[in-house]
This record gives sequence, C-alpha cells and structure tokens, in this order.
Amino acid sequence: MDKKLLQSADAAHLMHPFSDFKEMVEEGTRLITNAEDAYIVDVDGHRMLDAMSGLWCCNLGYSRKEIIKAIDDQLNTLPYYNSFFQCTTPASVELARVISEIAPEGMNNVFFTGSGSEANDTNLRMIRRYWDLKEQPEKRIIISRKNAYHGSTIAGASLGGMNGMHKQFSRLDNIVHIDQPYWFEEGGDMSPEEFGIHAANALETKIQELGPERVAAFIAEPIQGAGGVIIPPESYWPQIKKILAKYDILMVMDEVIFGFGRTGQWFGSQYYDIQPDLLTFAKAVTNGYYPLGGVMVGDKVADVLKSGGGEFTHGYTYSAHPAACAAGLATINILRDEKIIEKMAEDTGPYLQQRWKELGEHRIVGEARGLGFVGALELVKDKASRARFDDKCTAGAICRTMSIKNGLVMRATGDAMIIAPPLILTREQVDELITKAERALDDTAEALGV
Ligand code: PMP
Repeated sequence: MDKKLLQSADAAHLMHPFSDFKEMVEEGTRLITNAEDAYIVDVDGHRMLDAMSGLWCCNLGYSRKEIIKAIDDQLNTLPYYNSFFQCTTPASVELARVISEIAPEGMNNVFFTGSGSEANDTNLRMIRRYWDLKEQPEKRIIISRKNAYHGSTIAGASLGGMNGMHKQFSRLDNIVHIDQPYWFEEGGDMSPEEFGIHAANALETKIQELGPERVAAFIAEPIQGAGGVIIPPESYWPQIKKILAKYDILMVMDEVIFGFGRTGQWFGSQYYDIQPDLLTFAKAVTNGYYPLGGVMVGDKVADVLKSGGGEFTHGYTYSAHPAACAAGLATINILRDEKIIEKMAEDTGPYLQQRWKELGEHRIVGEARGLGFVGALELVKDKASRARFDDKCTAGAICRTMSIKNGLVMRATGDAMIIAPPLILTREQVDELITKAERALDDTAEALGV
C-alpha cells in the first residue's frame, strides 16, 4: 500500500464529511487500514483502542464474521430487490418482525431507510401525514432542542440545533428549538435537579407560546450524543413526560446512537421509561457493517397511517435492502444470543463508569460523567468555576491528538472528550482505556502548561 499516493489522491479527489477541505489537504489525513475486535490500525501500524465504536456504530467491534457471512449469503441469494409496488423480501419481513419483538412496547411497525438522516426525514413525512389524516392539519410545528444532532439532510439539519450547520443553509419552516438540559455548561447556580426541571419546563413554555393546537411533535435523543454526551439530570425526563401527557403532541425519540444497547437497555426510551410514538434508529442495528436506518412506528401512529386515506408517497430505493436487513438480523441475533447488553449492564458498564469517574480527579477535568457505555470529560482550567482554557476549544483539540498518540480514539466535542466504546470490551480493556485516557490528560495538561 502506497501511503503517499493514497494521501495525495485523497487530497485531490475525496471530499470528506464535516471537514474543512482546505485545512484537511494542508494537514493530511490519517489512513485507517485494518480493524479487529475493539481496535483500529492505521497505515503506519499504529494500533488504537477505538473508544468511539467507529461513529457510535460498531457496538460489537470489528470482528463479527457472522454478520459478514449473513451479508455475503444474502448477496449471493438475492443481492437486491425493493419493497415498492407491493413487493417484499424474506430478510426485510423477518427483520421487521424481530425489531417489533425488541422495540419498546406498542411499537409494532417499522419503516426502513438507508440512514439515520433519512429516517428523520421519514419522521417529518409521517408526522405530517398523521395529523392530516386526523384532520388536524394546523398541527405543523416540531419542537427540538438547541445543540441537538438529528442528521445532515435538509430535514435532519433543520431538526438539529447546531448553529454551525444552520448558518450554511436555509432551515425548513415550522421547526423551533428550546434549550438543552446541559447542566455543566448552562446550569449556573442551580443544582442539577433544579436545572433538569427548569430545562424541561422550557418545553411547556414553548408549547403555550405557540399554541398546543399548532404543535405536532417533540423530537429528542434520550441523551444528546454528538452534542457532547449530555446526560440530562434525573428530573428532566419525568417532567418532559408529564408535559407531553398534558398536550396532544407526538414524541419522537431519536435513538440513532442509543438504540441497540448503549444505555444497558435495548433502547434509551426503556432506560428512561418513555413511550415514544416514533423512534429513529440506524448505526448499531447492523453493527455499522451495512447502511441501514429506519423508524419504529408506535401503534397510535401506525393505526392511523394504515387506516386508509391513500398512498403514503415516501420511500427510498434502499428502503429494506435485503443485505442490510440480513446484517440487522445477524447483529440482533448476536446481541440476544450472547446477552451482550445484559452483560454490559451488569458488569462491564458499572465497571467502566466506576473507573471513568476516577478521571474526574484529574487536574484539568471539571466533570467526568457517564452511563451505560458512554462517557464525557469536561476539560477546564478551573474546576470550581468550570472556566474553560479559552473559547476556541484548544484543550479538546490537543487532548484528541494526545489520545490518538497514546493509542486511544476519543472524540472532542468542544472541550468535552467523549467515548462510546464497543459493548464487548472486557474489564482488562476498560482498564486499558482508562490508563490511555489518563496519559492523554497528563499530556494535554503539560501541553497547556498546567
Ligand atoms: N440522529 C442522531 C442522534 C445521530 O447521532 C445521527 C448520526 N450521528 C443521525 C441522526 C444521522 O444518522 P446518519 O449519519 O446515518 O444519517
């Protein structure tokens, strides 16, 4: 493999997602060539523990031959067929049936897409169709949250609450954003519990301001993932539930990151005891080995959509791609047969959290939070006031580099270092993760002159 040749072809031809194209060409890219278990290897042979599971998707790591075989078998039998025009395939039917077994209660239908973004587009289409069929066409507004990530299509990016994304295009109408439940950054003098209620009440204030008769749905992740692993205070979700129960508004839970085990339950909705009407999934459904996303549809919505009223004019060429569905089935079978989620919830999850929270003692860490198999470290100059090193997120960028140098993939979201490792890590690998993270923090502190 010619590293230089590949890197120059990369610079000349490949436009990377979420990248500063000019800067990337100047600085060069890291070429990842192999992966096994929970590790990735670059072209120079540098082996790194991947504490991000790729992009939050390889929950079973990189070595599951059963999924690869299932894809291969399917491609050899029926490499493609669609589910338009009253056609279907065995793999897609079987995956829909199995998903309804593991889905939160009362979610017995699924609409497949190729990605999480397409699934959130599908949500918009379904929500609109639902209220139209209910003869309440004035219900059009979706409430989301600032700093949320819901994908990168126009609908996904409009639903998301990322300023940097909004600046680069015209947002869709009828989407509004309330504050996020990010206590560390925005909680001020309130206790986390007080702040959780305060942040949840912003939903009711917004509903009243808009008029409940105009509000169609509320969309949220159980825990904001890409926003920085923002775990809401415990008071938040019960209060949101109370508010939603008061008004006739659909609840859309975006579980693209938290679905398929990350909290220690199959879905974050179950962890927080929430009954969504629509649930977005993608990523870990195929362990990241094949593109697949979708929407699980609660009976309340499915009954209306299936009650007649003509065609639902929406769908994708790759909706229910047979190879993707075969990958999904194989992934779910492994999760079930090997009790991966249960084992993490009972053993390695609590162990990771115990060890991760020890990093909170480090001199540049203001908070070490986590739950299940996710975690975040807030890097600060001053622990008491939660003051950052600067407003350019230098600390996060340095720590990310130091982490890679020490053989660990952590992601920097601003000055928060975040992890979402494969659920299959052993206790020894958890120890390895902590040791490497600690070294990265030490090196960062030194580079910052602390
Ligand atoms: N929703 C959430 C919560 C996500 O984290 C993501 C992807 N990071 C998406 C939607 C979009 O998924 P995709 O990249 O598959 O379109």
